Amino acid sequence: MSVQNIVLLGATGSIGASTLSVLREHPERFRISGLAAHSKVADFCRLAHEFPDARLALFDAVAARSAQMELGRPVGSGMEGLLDLVADPEATTLVNGLVGSIGCRPTMEAIRRGMRVCLANKETLVMAGEIIRDLLDRHPESCLVPIDSEHSALHQCLGGRPTAEVERMVLTASGGPFRDLPASEFQDITLERALKHPTWNMGPKITVDSSTLFNKGLEVIEAHHLFGIDFDRIQVLVHPGSHVHSLVQFRDGALMAQLGTPDMRLPILYSLVAPERVSLSGDRLDLAQVGELRFQPPDHARFPALGLAYAAGRAGGALPAVLNAANEAAVSLFLDRRIGYLDIAHLVESCLTSADFSRHPDFDELLSADAWARGRVLELARAETVP
Ligand code: MG
Repeated sequence: MSVQNIVLLGATGSIGASTLSVLREHPERFRISGLAAHSKVADFCRLAHEFPDARLALFDAVAARSAQMELGRPVGSGMEGLLDLVADPEATTLVNGLVGSIGCRPTMEAIRRGMRVCLANKETLVMAGEIIRDLLDRHPESCLVPIDSEHSALHQCLGGRPTAEVERMVLTASGGPFRDLPASEFQDITLERALKHPTWNMGPKITVDSSTLFNKGLEVIEAHHLFGIDFDRIQVLVHPGSHVHSLVQFRDGALMAQLGTPDMRLPILYSLVAPERVSLSGDRLDLAQVGELRFQPPDHARFPALGLAYAAGRAGGALPAVLNAANEAAVSLFLDRRIGYLDIAHLVESCLTSADFSRHPDFDELLSADAWARGRVLELARAETVP
């Protein structure tokens, strides 16, 4: 068994913490060759001490300078700093746990270098899915395995069978904290309530996305690109318990599900070693205790994000990038308490309807679409034209 040299981007976030916990469990298999984070200097320096041989980068230049002073080791910064870690000839594996569209270029670089990419950064596929697919076709020595729990479940259910044998893929959704909230009360949803996820413990951006179902919408687009399956064959199913992480129905009607506890360490480990299965500590799902599994269809009226994502995904081109960037900008305004909860979907919809980009954008055009959407959201929010 050869040791995997891992570059971990997003080391101080929740995916980073779970990844390091998996790696510590299997020191014979995994070595950290590079660590990067956004700007949390103290947390980052603690990790740098634990991995004295790792090459380091912080995206934020000011944070990178103060970490470098504290550590007395070089700390790269900006996109160059991230790409430098990926470019290490020793590195075999990228774990991309970055939040947002800054995760795109490191993913593309790792594919070009023939690395295994363990991808938690769903924005990469939402924004640039067609470009990523094309790169993977041209670099068959590379492979991309999703960390997102639903897509990991789909990958596990597929078990290497071709997508042509699949009738439909079913993405489960917890439904978030507002699953049963009457439509009339949505306008009063506060930041505190949106940040309380019923089953998974995640970062603030994705927790808000789970409550609006934007996260599920992004995951529909992610599944489309990962498995090359058309949107009509991707279904979303609300499953409040989050025990079933997703399902694949084959052409003969057989429905395969992957179940487990809500522990991101499993999809992370699987992404690192698939198709192998490797031991992992932790609780096991006790179905006798679970008792029964509940499912219900999603309510598109209270959760317009889902319909917006299907529409943007089907339209293709730059619209998924616009959807993703507009949502990121709107969620960040909501996290800063500058807009209300319902404004998130309104702002995204306004951006989608006024976007005007070419049908087959290259990566630079996608970046322009991304920047345009962010600017447009700020403009709309500032002009208080939010309905
Ligand atoms: Mg997910």
